Parts: sequence; structure tokens; C-alpha cells
Amino acid sequence: MAFTLAIIGRPNVGKSTLFNRLVGRKIALVDDTPGVTRDRRVHAAKLYDLRFDVVDTAGLEIAPNESLAGRMRQQTDIAIEEADVILFVIDARTGLTPDDRTFADLVRKAGKPLVLVANKSEGRAAEAGALEAWELGLGEPVGISAEHGLGMADLRDAVVEAIGKDRAFAEDEADALVAEAAAEALVGEDIADPDAEAPAYDDTKPMRIAIVGRPNAGKSTLINQLIGEERLLTGPEAGITRDSISVEWTWRDREIKLFDTAGMRRKARVQEKLEKLSVADGLRAIRFAEVVVVVFDATIPFEKQDLQLADLIIREGRALVLAFNKWDLIENKQAVLAELHEKTARLLPQVRGLLAIPVSAETGRGTDKLMDAVVKTHEVWNRRISTGRLNRWLEGVLGHHPPPAVAGRRLKIKYMTQVKARPPGFVLSCTRPDAMPQSYIRYLVNGLREAFDMPGVPIRMNLRASE
Ligand code: GDP
Ligand code: GDP
Repeated sequence: MAFTLAIIGRPNVGKSTLFNRLVGRKIALVDDTPGVTRDRRVHAAKLYDLRFDVVDTAGLEIAPNESLAGRMRQQTDIAIEEADVILFVIDARTGLTPDDRTFADLVRKAGKPLVLVANKSEGRAAEAGALEAWELGLGEPVGISAEHGLGMADLRDAVVEAIGKDRAFAEDEADALVAEAAAEALVGEDIADPDAEAPAYDDTKPMRIAIVGRPNAGKSTLINQLIGEERLLTGPEAGITRDSISVEWTWRDREIKLFDTAGMRRKARVQEKLEKLSVADGLRAIRFAEVVVVVFDATIPFEKQDLQLADLIIREGRALVLAFNKWDLIENKQAVLAELHEKTARLLPQVRGLLAIPVSAETGRGTDKLMDAVVKTHEVWNRRISTGRLNRWLEGVLGHHPPPAVAGRRLKIKYMTQVKARPPGFVLSCTRPDAMPQSYIRYLVNGLREAFDMPGVPIRMNLRASE
């Protein structure tokens, strides 16, 4: 997969139809079963000789209580952000609508390689619309019919032209690593394990964190507690720098860059806008951050919105830490904490071992522990495990508990390799990936977590067919 493509446009222009045509309806290897983090947002696609990922905007539902327009807007924003190239789709039959122009502005601002697609171009009814599309100033429209599969070769050429030949046919990093690992596996005997020393964790760059949560959970209080005026005045460090987006300060010799939601709010002022703002803020904050702290009001924990937020953070591949705030108000602290930990494990099983810390933003109790958890989670999120270590572990697992036989034939796992960090992502090379039971993949992911001490971060596991 060389690049990522997003299909953008107002409702009904035929985005899903085009999506399905590109993806060929063959969707994902790993499903939504709790415990397996499947990357719901991107799907492998092809168009003639091009191989790429398509961002699935349908997988980006994030705030069901927002208006449709707001939701579309957010989905579009995320998709654009992720894409290397944008297909901007209009309906050649209906011609341009005001919504088309709104979306056109969005994609124009993104400044990314773009192909203007006039869909539903089969037949003469489309001619006028295709001409009108020129007005958008987004270049020459490529006429296609997603439904009938017409114009696909033109679309292919336009995509290659938009992003350039090199990018269009670049070899994927993951594929390259898999090939490397395969070569290594063939060599067998890893006497002098070449990658025993995985790249060291870089703790000199500022760690980017964000603090999100429902209105009134105590985010501003917590931020002020963490970077409080006292520290500004008494801290030995060079001081706190504050720009419009972030605040930097040092915590125990660690440079921290915090997404400053509080600052943004001060600017926003208008009271009734606060709630809306917090949704958009949350999204920006999540994209900014490496580690996201979700602040729960411990007196009303695990509201639907809390879980949606956590789920979004996990899907975005960020590291997550929970803060149970207003702990000073909790009476039966031990019993409540046990209950909250049980709930965390049950409701967020895809990040088993997630750190959840009781704090009082008001008094400052627990905030050091919270920062410890943030640093620890950040380190885990960055972790790289050498192929040698991974496969020694895998061999042991396969010896004790091999994958089951399916339809009388044993599934064979060849090797595993970590293809990325931040968050950790692995590729499992095996025979018949489609037949591999989810429960077994879950078993491997959980085993990995334990063996290599990786609690609380999303772990991605992709299966590749070997042979
Ligand atoms: P989306 O909401 O933008 O994802 O649009 P859909 O893919 O759901 O398509 C909206 C409608 O347009 C559906 O009824 C499709 O069958 C229809 N449609 C999609 N592509 C074409 C096309 O190329 N030609 C025609 N005539 N109709 C199409
Ligand atoms: P935000 O909307 O998430 O930024 O929440 P705020 O920081 O504005 O806090 C909302 C309310 O909760 C305010 O009245 C705070 O004083 C209160 N609050 C925040 N943290 C704590 C805490 O640790 N203990 C108690 N008792 N109240 C808190």
C-alpha cells in the first residue's frame, strides 16, 4: 500500500458506491470483536495497478449527538487529514449545489493532491453538470460512473498524476519490513540477532499530551493544577511558554507539551458555545497528542460520552490514560476504585491494562501519579520489539497452544514482526489468514501484552498470507 486516499463530497453523490468499487467489498481481516483493535478507518483498495488504502468515512462516526452537518464535517476533516490524495466527488446529474461548494472549500484549504470526480456521468444527462464542475476551480473533472464502472482508467491516470509516479508506486514500509523479516526467518538460526537492540526510546523530544473529557469533568482545573501559576513563578525551568495551541513545561526533567484546551476556551468566551466547542476541541486535541488523558467525573463515571471519547482515542491509535477526578468527593474510596477498575477492564477491553488514576484536580492529590502513568504509557506506546525476541516468544506460544485446525487442516503461523510503533503494530504471517479465528488473534494480542509488558495501548495485528 503506497498511499492513502479519501473520498470526499456531500451526501448522495455516490461516495459509498465508489468506495465499494475500489475496495471490492473485501473488507478487513480482523473484526470488531472486543479485544482486537481493528483499524476500521482504512481499507485496502486497488485500481488497476495501483494499490492503496481508502479512508472509510463511515467508520469515523464520532459524535452521534451532533447535527448531521457537524458530523459530516468532522468525518471529512479526519479523512482529509489522513489522506495523501483526495477524490472530491460531485454528482454530474444534479449539478453543483451550495453543499458542494462548502465541501470544495474544505478540500481546497487542505492543500493536498486532489482529483475532482464528476460521478454519475454515464449518459447525456451528465454533460451540463460536468461542465459546471469546472467552476469549482479544482481542475479538470474526471467523469466516471461509480455504479457502472465507467471512467475508471481515467480516474487511475488522474490519481497518478495528482500524487506523482514515485508516490503512487512507492513500496510500502510494512511490506518492506515483512520481506526483510521473511528473509531473516529463512536464514533461521538467529545466532547474532541483528536487531536485538531495538531503537531506544527517545525521551528528549517534548511529549505531547492532551486532556479531554466531558464539560465539567474538571479539565481546566486539572490543567491549571499541572502547570499552575505557582510553578510558573517558582519553577527552576526556563518557564512556561504558551502559544495559541499548547503550553510547554517540564515535569521531572521531562519536557511536556500540553494541548491547551483551557486557553482556547478563554478565547471562546461565549457560554452557550462551550459544549459544542468541547467536541471540536477534543478532536483537535486528540490529533495533536501522543498521550490523551480522559478526565472522568468520578461521581458520574462512564457516561456514554466518556466511552465514545475513549473509543475514538483508541481508534485514532493514541495512547490513553484515565483520570477519575473529584476523588475528594468520593466517600468509600477503596470500594469505588475497585468498582471503577472492574468497569474499565470490562468496558474498554481493547486496551487491557489501561492505567486509570484517581485524582483531585482541585487539591492536586494524585496528579503526580497521573503524570507517572502518562509517561509510562507513552513509553509503551513507543515500544519496539525486535523480530528475534518476538519470534522466540511466538515459538513458545505455538508450542503450547497452536492455532486450531479449520476444516481438518491446521493453520500455520510462520513468523511475526513489528512493523510500526506509536501505537505498536504487528504483522502475522500465516497460511489462510481468512480462516484464522478471532479468538486466536485475541489470544496472541493478549499474550503479547503480557510477555512484553504493553498495557493500555492499542495493539494492531494484521494478518498476511504466506506462501
Ligand atoms: P454517498 O451517500 O455519497 O456515499 O452516495 P451513495 O454511494 O450512497 O450513492 C447515492 C445514490 O447515487 C445511490 O442511489 C446510488 O445508487 C447512486 N449512484 C452512485 N453512483 C452512481 C452512478 O455512477 N450513476 C448513477 N446514475 N447513480 C449512481
Ligand atoms: P471542565 O469543564 O472539564 O474544564 O471542568 P472545570 O475544570 O471547569 O471544573 C468543573 C467544576 O468541577 C468546577 O466547579 C470545579 O471547581 C469542579 N472541580 C474540578 N475538579 C475538582 C475536584 O478535583 N474536586 C472537586 N470537588 N471539584 C472539582
